[in-house]
Amino acid sequence: MNKLKKKKCHICKVKFSYYNSTQAVCSPVCALKLVQQKNEKAYDKETKRLKESIKTRADWLNGAQTAFNAYIRVRDRNEPCISCGTTKPVQYCAGHYFTRGGHPELRFSEQNVHKQCNKNCNLELSGNIAAYRVNLIKKIGVEAMDWLEGPHALQNLTIEDAKEIKQYYRDKTKHLKGEIEFMT
Ligand SMILES: [Zn+2]
Ligand SMILES: [Zn+2]
Repeated sequence: MNKLKKKKCHICKVKFSYYNSTQAVCSPVCALKLVQQKNEKAYDKETKRLKESIKTRADWLNGAQTAFNAYIRVRDRNEPCISCGTTKPVQYCAGHYFTRGGHPELRFSEQNVHKQCNKNCNLELSGNIAAYRVNLIKKIGVEAMDWLEGPHALQNLTIEDAKEIKQYYRDKTKHLKGEIEFMT
């Protein structure tokens, strides 16, 4: 006589006897739940795949920019506005010295982007660039400034590049936040 083997139901975790080794669940009720679970997972995966497949290069670059800017905000958390020097509790942004439109090759340059007050300097004074320049030289030094204001090769960033940049800055921000937490 065959002794029945037992295993744990994949859904309800109850031990059950099975005849067929491919049987993963204890009952028709759990079998139904298993199918639903698999369908939901497949659905989520497919939705994600579809969403990503319709993303354009510009979408991916925007995603990378969001991750990059988030890093700048954490890096400069204790800095004043690069242009006017305010430390008031106003809204701050990651302000580009050379604009993204004018110098797309510098849109992900850490030397080119610094914490800035959003309303006054970024928006109303279009970056408040003269003051930005003075304080930027103080912050990064003459050499880095020369590099920044020098010629730059055009980058033709692909979707894959944008994905890598996004991941790189997500990791970098996470790492930095971990260090900050450790220090405080
Ligand atoms: Zn079960
Ligand atoms: Zn400002």
